[in-house]
Amino acid sequence: MTSTFDRHPSPPPTSASVPADGVETFESLDPATGDLVGVHPVAGPEDVALAVERARDAAAWWGNLTFDERAEHLLTWRSVITRRIAQLSELSHRETGKPIPDAQLEIALAIDHVAWAAKHAKKVLGPQRVASGLVMANQKSTVEYKPLGVVGVIGPWNYPVFTPMGSIAYALAAGNTVVFKPSEYTPGVGVWLAETFAEVVGGIPVLQAITGLGATGAALCTSGVDKLAFTGSTATGKKVMAACAERLTPVVIEAGGKDSLIVDEDANIAKAAEAALWGGMSNAGQTCIGTERVYVHEKVFDAFVAEITEQAKGLRAGTDAGAKIGPITMPSQVDVIRGHVQDALDRGATAVVGGADAVGERFVQPTILTHVPETSTAITEETFGPTLAINPVRDMDEAVRLTNAGKYGLAGAVFSKRHGVEIARRIRSGMTSVNGIITFAGVPGLPFGGVGESGFGRIHGPDGLKEFTYAKAITRQRYAPPLNLTSFKRTVKDEKGLNLIVTLLHGGKKTLKP
Ligand code: NDP
Repeated sequence: MTSTFDRHPSPPPTSASVPADGVETFESLDPATGDLVGVHPVAGPEDVALAVERARDAAAWWGNLTFDERAEHLLTWRSVITRRIAQLSELSHRETGKPIPDAQLEIALAIDHVAWAAKHAKKVLGPQRVASGLVMANQKSTVEYKPLGVVGVIGPWNYPVFTPMGSIAYALAAGNTVVFKPSEYTPGVGVWLAETFAEVVGGIPVLQAITGLGATGAALCTSGVDKLAFTGSTATGKKVMAACAERLTPVVIEAGGKDSLIVDEDANIAKAAEAALWGGMSNAGQTCIGTERVYVHEKVFDAFVAEITEQAKGLRAGTDAGAKIGPITMPSQVDVIRGHVQDALDRGATAVVGGADAVGERFVQPTILTHVPETSTAITEETFGPTLAINPVRDMDEAVRLTNAGKYGLAGAVFSKRHGVEIARRIRSGMTSVNGIITFAGVPGLPFGGVGESGFGRIHGPDGLKEFTYAKAITRQRYAPPLNLTSFKRTVKDEKGLNLIVTLLHGGKKTLKP
């Protein structure tokens, strides 16, 4: 392999898993037990700058590979992750507390995205012919999408593999190198990803993990990366955007949500309840596209509440094999969840499952509230816990109005036999699943992202690949132009010719053909 890295006889490690003496460190802890999982260095601004510099050198190699060559490396990485899925699941389980089968599901979806990005980058980003139009008929026009250079990725802890992979895999497939700052709660997972990728590319720092706290992420924002992809809270997203503005660094912001699931009167109630329960409770509710609100047609409201209450029996958070929900990963979140549940109850909501007592120190038991006032924080703010707020609505117009009333617009779901897609189209959000729950996230060809305070920009699919590129337009003259328009030698005949063509093309009253 020849590269600019011939200059570096032994490429630097992607991240120091065993920090050297004197290096400032932080601990990653098991949220279920408080046990130590790992110790990681806190990368300061100089370390971040060095990582970005290495990434820029590496980009000179990686960015100049062909799409097929990059795809080969990415597909090898995909295979490595697949073969070691048990190891990565165990690490994710220890750092986040999520049950191992949930960790495996998350990683399996991420693997699928790596493969999709690798296999589709050439078709989506490679040179494509564009019609030149009558006036420029003598030109051959093409557009292609070039890598930006170095992409910074700041990831969250709730889905420490799937979520950042939506940026990492697509940015890499597009020809960028990546400097990845994982959450302080899941640094081990981030380092694991970078180290396995380094194995695939002979140690060249195409994907590096830099560990640390919020300040490390802040340093990445101002490090001169060519784009910054952030996933996390809306509040931090705003700080990231402000920091990036300093150097006019473009950003992708995948922020929070307050998604609703709408149940129409003709819906399959059992299936809708099953989906709402999973959407609200899986991963202990710590899902950006999780269900937090449910709006149910008043004609089927009682039946729905009875059904979901029944299905919720036996579902509990804990560490034993029977517990399907893990702990709250970020300790400070417990107070937020408690506050939202209490606020709803104080304003007159009813707890049909769980309630204020369900919020423990590390674990929150499933809590389902009904008749929750629309002004309470359980409706207006992201709760990020295993809770659902279920309210009756007169009709689907009201369901759509309430769904769209909030500041977020990430995703959502609709259960209806006859009007599902129609209702989905009226929801102001980036993604909606009809008669299913978060199914769009498992379709690699679909874009993922939100509107409003849920952020902007897209990961996944062709849009996700293009997000980490710039469009390059090229026109090549095939033969001399019939009209010499862009020259001081232009004649009156040329000008009349242009007028004639424009009149023929655009002067009529024709409307669009269906
Ligand atoms: P943050 O938004 O604070 O953290 C997300 C990432 O940003 C982490 O890697 C974090 O690093 C990093 N970060 C923190 N401060 C800065 C900064 N100033 N500049 C750059 N990067 C920074 O989320 P939290 O983990 O604090 O969670 C708070 C709330 O956010 C949750 O309660 C939930 O509502 C929401 N959230 C939403 C997610 C989603 O998927 N949409 C994911 C995670 C959280 P570090 O962890 O080291 O502080």
